[in-house]
Amino acid sequence: MQVTIKEKLLVPEEIIPAHESEVEKERFHECDKCEEKIAHGSHSADEFTFELVQGFRYPGSGDGQTEEMELCTICANELVTLLKANGYRIIKSKWNY
Ligand SMILES: [Zn+2]
Repeated sequence: MQVTIKEKLLVPEEIIPAHESEVEKERFHECDKCEEKIAHGSHSADEFTFELVQGFRYPGSGDGQTEEMELCTICANELVTLLKANGYRIIKSKWNY
């Protein structure tokens, strides 16, 4: 889940009229399991994607629902272990370039 933290900033009187303004302080992604900030090193390729889209698409219209989840690397690995233990087949492959 993307989290945006805002803070109120008091604009000094020299800039007339004096007023309070809300500005974005920080934006980050939060793990939907442990609620920790998802941090990646500068060269990390760690990524987890879960999105279930259900509904109907017609030419020019459609309706349905989407369920999605973001996990940190630790929770994603725990989920893989949990799914495998419950009979889900998960294909593992190596990649490089
Ligand atoms: Zn987590």
